[in-house]
Parts: sequence; structure tokens; C-alpha cells
Amino acid sequence: MALRLTEYVLAGELFNTKRNSVHGYIWLRDCDRPIMFQLTGNCLSDLAGHHLRFEARPNPMIEQGALTEEEIDERRIAWMQIGVPGEMTAAKQVRAFDCSIDEFLRRSKLDEQPPTEWRRMLCLEWYGQNGRVVIELVDPLIEIDPDESGPTTLGFFASEQTGGNETTLNEDDLNEGLDLEFSDDVPWPDDEANEFDDDSEDGAILAFEPMPDESDDDPYGLFPKDLEASLETSSSDQPWSDGPDPETLALWERLDALEDHSQDVPLCTLFDPPLKVPPPESLNDEQVVQALNSILMELALHNVALHMCEHFTPRSAYELLVNDILRNEETHPELPHSDMTQNFDTSSYCPECDAEFERRYAERKAQNDSTNGDTLGDFDPDGDVPF
Ligand SMILES: [Zn+2]
Ligand SMILES: [Zn+2]
Repeated sequence: MALRLTEYVLAGELFNTKRNSVHGYIWLRDCDRPIMFQLTGNCLSDLAGHHLRFEARPNPMIEQGALTEEEIDERRIAWMQIGVPGEMTAAKQVRAFDCSIDEFLRRSKLDEQPPTEWRRMLCLEWYGQNGRVVIELVDPLIEIDPDESGPTTLGFFASEQTGGNETTLNEDDLNEGLDLEFSDDVPWPDDEANEFDDDSEDGAILAFEPMPDESDDDPYGLFPKDLEASLETSSSDQPWSDGPDPETLALWERLDALEDHSQDVPLCTLFDPPLKVPPPESLNDEQVVQALNSILMELALHNVALHMCEHFTPRSAYELLVNDILRNEETHPELPHSDMTQNFDTSSYCPECDAEFERRYAERKAQNDSTNGDTLGDFDPDGDVPF
């Protein structure tokens, strides 16, 4: 059964600005932290290559429910969703009416069926640790490729920008959000001469994407900067004389168990029934995509992800997965019972990513050397001593 989050969604942001990666976050109305996602694959053509901001509008057709953080934890809904995008598009149209379903049915019976009209629907579907997840927002406010330094038309993000002051939208703002046109061009995968392929031959530097990064707790800048400080203060206020509470102890024990790699098993033994892994050379391009996605879905159910850099094709990623990762890498059998994920990345196996990293490192080092002279040399492990 699919996990349907539509009625709880407040707003969110999605990036598919790099091929093979769909990442972002979704705020639910009753939660103080967003659900994040970092998926391997692409949106449909209208969103592929783009950055999307969206905000749900009150919809009389659905009753708004509440889903609290506690309920999310109880239902073991992962806060960081990994896996494979399903249908991700803002180009669907649905018939919508401006009253509740009850009223619609009542008036229909009286032969006064309320008028319906076509509205845009934003579909966000993916297959992650909780299986299929579906969000379908009728007529949301959206911004495509917003100028991130400029003002936003979306009330939710506007109030974020002004530091939490509620901004009320006027009708013009609403219409502006509504009338945003989608370009019909499909930037990739078919169109090779697109703006995302600017990183290779001409030596241009890749733009730094706001990719979630394990070293960064808050890649999207979602939390106030002083939050961490206030958390530290409040936790240091806790009297520890009685020792950690049972919940904390249990968490530590689980973490210890996961750290104990003696229990690790090869990835390929995780699956029951065993995974069907046809050899890559027996599959055509379409079949490779299907085979890759079905393994990534299975892996997601076991809290394991393979992220794909833009240099990999479905075929090369599938080859890496079946010939190397599934055979040689191990995971902890208890991982699915934790909220942790194990993340593999094709960039660790990618000569182009490696060259890119080296080039950027050399550039930054050269820049540091010229601007800061000898001061930064101290921090550079293999930097030359200037004298
Ligand atoms: Zn391990
Ligand atoms: Zn790469």
C-alpha cells in the first residue's frame, strides 16, 4: 500500500538540476523538521533539469489531516528518503471542483453538480524505505528555477526569507504563481547540447549544487543558524547524574550493534526471495533501466542507496551494481530496523568525478596560495612549505 502524504504537505523544494539525482525536502504541516529525499534517477521531462519550489493551497476537495513527528517515528517513515523516483511531474491535469467531496455529491444528487475545471497537478512519487510514496497536489503554487537570491512569490518561502514573519499573499501573487509557464523543451536525456553538459570538454567548472552532503547537517539552510547553539545549551542543562535515560541507552546499543561489522553480510544475500539479477549484456537499454530501478527499490527497502553521478548511464550503474557492489560490499542485517542508511555513490568509482575533484582541489589550493600566502599552507596536509 502506498504511503500517501498529500493532505499533510505544506511546501517543499526539489532539485533535478543534475542528471540522475532528484533531491530536496518537504515540509509537513505539523512537523518542525522536513522529510528529505535523495533519489537516484530523474523527473519526467517537464521537471528534468529544473529546480522547483512548491506550496500547497488549501484544497476543499480533501480533508486536511495531521501527521505529527511522533506518528512519523511510530510509523517508521524515514526522515531521509532514499530510492528511486516514480512519476515526478507538474504537467498532469485533473478535473477539480471548488467544494468538499460531500457537498459535491450532495449537489450532484440534486442535479446541481458544481462546475469542474481542469487544474494542474503536481505529482511526486517515489519508491523508498517505506515503499511507494505519493504526493499529489492539485493547483499548487509553484516556482520553476527561481532566482535564489531574489524575492519569492510563495508565501511559505517569503516568510522564511524574512525570518518567520507571516506574509500574506494577495491575489496577484497567487496568479503569478499560477501562470508560470513550463517550457516544453526536454533538456535531457535526449538533448545533448544542454546547459547541464557544460562541465566536460571546455574545462568549465561544475557549479556547486546544494546537494545533501553527509558532512553538512543542514544542506538547504532550513534551520535557524542559532538552533544548534540552543540545542547544545539545552542539552547541557540536562542533569546526567542519573545516567542516560533508557531510550538513549537503547539507541546507543543499537548504534553499537550497527558499528560491529562482524555481523555484516554481503549485500546480495539480503534479499528473500533472492534478487533476480540478469547479466547486463543480456538486457537492452530499456530493460537495463527497469532492472536497475527494481534493484534500487529493493535496496531502498533495506536502507541501502546507490547514488548516481551524472557521468553514469543506467547501464554503467547497473554493471557497477551487479558486478561489484552487490558482490563485494556488505551491510548490517539490522540496518532496516534503524533510521540509518548506507550510501554508495558512483562518483567513488568514476574517473571523471575524480578528475573533477582533483582539478577543483588544485584550483582552490592555487587560489589560497596566491591570496593567503603562507597562512593556509599550515592547514594543507601535503602543501609545500614556502621557505
Ligand atoms: Zn557494517
Ligand atoms: Zn562521475
